[in-house]
Amino acid sequence: VEVPATCQAAVLVEYGRPLEIREVPIPEVEPNAILIRVEMAGVCGTDVHLHQGAVGAPVILPVIPGHEGLGRIARLGQGRTHDAVGEPLRPGDRILWSHAWCGRCYWCDIAREPTLCRNATTYGLRQSEEQPFLTGSFAEYEYLVPNTRVVKVPEELSNEEVVGASCAFRTVVSAYDRLNRVGGVGTQDSVVILGAGPIGLYSTLLATEGGAGQTIVVGAPRARLELAREWGADHVINLDEVPDPSQRKAEVLKLTSGRGADVVVEAAGVLSAFGEGLEMVRPGGRYLEIGQTHGAATTPVAPAKIHDNLVVIGNKSATIVHFYKALHFIKNKRHRYAFGKMVSNTYPLTRVNEALASMKAGREIKAAIVP
Ligand SMILES: [Zn+2]
Ligand SMILES: [Zn+2]
Repeated sequence: VEVPATCQAAVLVEYGRPLEIREVPIPEVEPNAILIRVEMAGVCGTDVHLHQGAVGAPVILPVIPGHEGLGRIARLGQGRTHDAVGEPLRPGDRILWSHAWCGRCYWCDIAREPTLCRNATTYGLRQSEEQPFLTGSFAEYEYLVPNTRVVKVPEELSNEEVVGASCAFRTVVSAYDRLNRVGGVGTQDSVVILGAGPIGLYSTLLATEGGAGQTIVVGAPRARLELAREWGADHVINLDEVPDPSQRKAEVLKLTSGRGADVVVEAAGVLSAFGEGLEMVRPGGRYLEIGQTHGAATTPVAPAKIHDNLVVIGNKSATIVHFYKALHFIKNKRHRYAFGKMVSNTYPLTRVNEALASMKAGREIKAAIVP
């Protein structure tokens, strides 16, 4: 495979300013590293926050955003022969990759919570002095550092079907794995999903497939709620039509015999949604928190709701385990669900700013960049 000396990348130079398309050098591939030819990069709500300078973690600018990459191997570093499952890797193979947790710190080794690792190389989110620059997916090529875990994408799947597995879906799979440790979604349980973005939509899917009796999705706009219905929601509550939280709570209580839902999944990410979800879960139920990434920001809640035997469990990001499971969920269930509908629009790299604006305005289910 021919690899040029430089490639185009969309660079965030200053918060709030349009990303600049720049010509960036492609690094030499060190042992165990991988150079990717990016085929598609999803645009995440987090990219919108990063663009505005509203992410908790420290970021050194300039940075190449894009952490939902999907691409083919252009160069394999010496010694990199197999993916995380043990499948052989060759140039031309299409793969997904996780952030590169260090694998030798308290969080990785002792706590066994690699997504909490403080030394991770994260793609498209922050830049450090040591990290190669070409490590965001809003670019023609992307460099994966040596300890990055990767999985091969089954060839029969389209990029549109798969790209959501590189962020939202793998996170939801990880979150449901944690929820399952504390009871999960029981047979015929009622489930409320707060949020109808990609995290909320995949959460709807896993609730449906997990045996929920009744799934209620609270979100907006209509296009996202229609997809939620296709993916198993029995009831939807449109935020545009029911703007009053107390009225939304009343609707949920009416649908759940006045007790509240057995399981509530907070996937909205709006700070006030956490308290709203607590009002909708039944005593002794389970509350899964996936959406909140607001650092130290606080919101009022009634702690007595938790005192009533409630289990609250959170989830941050995912490891390669969950990428693998998400991919195989798509492969095994694609005859039943149109996973490709997750991508509502694609944009060339040169129109990345339009894609960000469209995501910010809530006009997309998910926008994707095709470099
Ligand atoms: Zn994301
Ligand atoms: Zn670590």
